Amino acid sequence: MSTSVLTAVAWPYANGPRHIGHVSGFGVPSDVFSRYQRMAGNRVLMVSGTDEHGTPILVQSDKEGLSPQETADKYTRQISQDLRGLGLSYDLFTRTTTGNHAEVVQQIFLALHRNGYVVPRTTTGAVSPSTGRTLPDRYIEGTCPLCGYDGARGDQCDNCGNQLDAAELKNPRSRINGEKPEFVETEHLFLDLPAFTESLGNWLSTKTDWRPNVLNFTKNLVDDMRPRPITRDLDWGVKVPLDGWRDQPLKRFYVWFDAVIGYFSASVEWARRSGDPDAWQPFWTDPDAQSFYFMGKDNITFHAQLWPAFLLGHNGQGDKGGEPGPYGTLNLPGEIVSSEFLTMSGSKFSTSRGTVIYVEDFLREFGPDTLRYFISVAGPETQDTDFTWDEFVRRTNFELANEWGNLVNRSISLAHKNNGGVPAPTAPAPADEELKALSRGAFETVGTHLRRSRFKQAAGEAMRVVSAANKYLSDQEPWKLKEDPDRRDAVLHTALQVVSDANALLTPFLPHAAQKVHEALGGTGVWAAQPECHDVEDLDIPGRTNPILTGDYSNEQAKWESTPVEVGRPLEKPSPLFAKLDASLGETGPEWAPIQS
Ligand SMILES: [Zn+2]
Repeated sequence: MSTSVLTAVAWPYANGPRHIGHVSGFGVPSDVFSRYQRMAGNRVLMVSGTDEHGTPILVQSDKEGLSPQETADKYTRQISQDLRGLGLSYDLFTRTTTGNHAEVVQQIFLALHRNGYVVPRTTTGAVSPSTGRTLPDRYIEGTCPLCGYDGARGDQCDNCGNQLDAAELKNPRSRINGEKPEFVETEHLFLDLPAFTESLGNWLSTKTDWRPNVLNFTKNLVDDMRPRPITRDLDWGVKVPLDGWRDQPLKRFYVWFDAVIGYFSASVEWARRSGDPDAWQPFWTDPDAQSFYFMGKDNITFHAQLWPAFLLGHNGQGDKGGEPGPYGTLNLPGEIVSSEFLTMSGSKFSTSRGTVIYVEDFLREFGPDTLRYFISVAGPETQDTDFTWDEFVRRTNFELANEWGNLVNRSISLAHKNNGGVPAPTAPAPADEELKALSRGAFETVGTHLRRSRFKQAAGEAMRVVSAANKYLSDQEPWKLKEDPDRRDAVLHTALQVVSDANALLTPFLPHAAQKVHEALGGTGVWAAQPECHDVEDLDIPGRTNPILTGDYSNEQAKWESTPVEVGRPLEKPSPLFAKLDASLGETGPEWAPIQS
């Protein structure tokens, strides 16, 4: 039975190119998952985009002397290309500065407001004493009042992950010029989070099968249900659609408020672009639909507490009740899949400290699948994990080139040389059946891991089939069976069948290589489809062009099952699947990201 599966992928800020730390958290895992779900016959909607509001964009535009929109235009284009290069199969990767997004954000807000979950409050905001300008929270740095970390920002502590108010920071200072900010009174709208204590608590208590890192974090969330500001003193963001607010030059929605609504607005945009404006509904209003949210661990609060609270409020399902908003009763997140951090020599990837490996550079030199594989088998799935070039070389050479590449190469080469195509299994033996049973059975084992987002285990089980097939070939020695061509044919037939099975099992991880193996096995057409970058007109703002990432995955042939190889199908001599890397790369790193001693 086909299930509707929403893959909701975290929104990167449009303030710079992506480094491999970014894509290890939200990017590759969400794509491996989505590709598996499509292969398994489910209807998948994978959406995201760039987060283009808020101070990160303003800081970057000040640095570059560009307007905020020009900055966002520049980086959303670059980020779309990075993600396309990695083969991330978004149905729509859009942005938060579209007309559609602003409209959806305002509608969700109005439903929350009508249902009584938004309250005005006078609060203290920071201003710069030297310029008199508002100093947004992210521009303020100080010591976290909760964990004592000295690099905490005014909105969030990156060390303990808690949300903060800038006025709570000890020793606050401006990140622009180091001066101590002045705190003055200003009016803002707050989400009445305490009014979700029971409804959110009940919902969270049903989520017992989330990853341990997410569960541990969410346990404390209902104990910290303070009202949260959802507006900011800024001139860059979605306007507040209320009388007395809409025309204020310095009142906008807080960036985290509009960004999480992006999962829904992007689904609506995708539907509008598909020609069926209601096509989002099976993913959002069908109670049997599933949804999976992929992100790094610094975003758990937004997805396990705040976004569900918005949805409950919009639906009229918070502790104060209410009526569903214009979109009906929307589904709350099904599963929060949070990764830990990919680090380098123990520290977070950081552009400012020079510990950075950009996706673009990486793809140019090593292609997408080696990185996808590394992140899947050695990434920060359950704990912070160091990226080392040494480990990257080892995984690429020993697992991809020697194990998988070699199996493909020698199986197809031998069949090509001896038979010119796929031979018939004329003299089968028990060892053949044993190996084929192992690879057939792996679809269930690997599939179960993938459904639970256990990527390391899934890739490990798929590679176990590859190792078993290599051992089988070494044991059977088909190259020594000149005198027994019937038996040789049976061995080669078995090997090709298992190459075909293993290729399906590895497709979610290695979609580009999988297409090549499909063709090397004599297949034609699209095995694993890839996304494309397009420039499209904004649906609501005349004259605006948006770069998007999208794709047609409906015609791909990849299926999550063992497909019998066709006897007699012609085979060409294959070319190597993965190039081996020079071992010295592990010691020096590439020229564009040398290892710093
Ligand atoms: Zn902290």
